[in-house]
Amino acid sequence: MINGCRDIRETIDMSIDTVDLDFDNYYENYLKLVERMEKIYPNQPFSFRNSDLDRLDEVLINHHYGLVYYTHTCGCWIKNKHPPPTQFVIDNKDRRHITYRDFYDAVVKNWDTTKTCDHSLLETIDVRNNCIELFLSA
Ligand SMILES: [Zn+2]
Repeated sequence: MINGCRDIRETIDMSIDTVDLDFDNYYENYLKLVERMEKIYPNQPFSFRNSDLDRLDEVLINHHYGLVYYTHTCGCWIKNKHPPPTQFVIDNKDRRHITYRDFYDAVVKNWDTTKTCDHSLLETIDVRNNCIELFLSA
């Protein structure tokens, strides 16, 4: 599965923009973002990036196929064995791209919640070729 996605040479340069929040109302605006995101995705397996709210319909990958990948290597698993990576495929056969919305829909649908730990905040979505690697933090 992982090797398969190396065949596609297209690379998307992800710029991780943050939403331009008014400094004085930063916390208040942040809570509004959280509330909006939770309305759309009430069953998040971890905290989604609220800054992606305004780009849900933007293209994440210019390909119908993408592999979502997350490696459980954090300290939470030191006492126990690290679980195997979480991975699943998004396949939009009828379209030629995958949007952020497709990505988040797939995460809600496919995430293995038995593999959660204290690191539950999505920090970075790193796209290389058509692999979508996630980095979560506490
Ligand atoms: Zn952890």
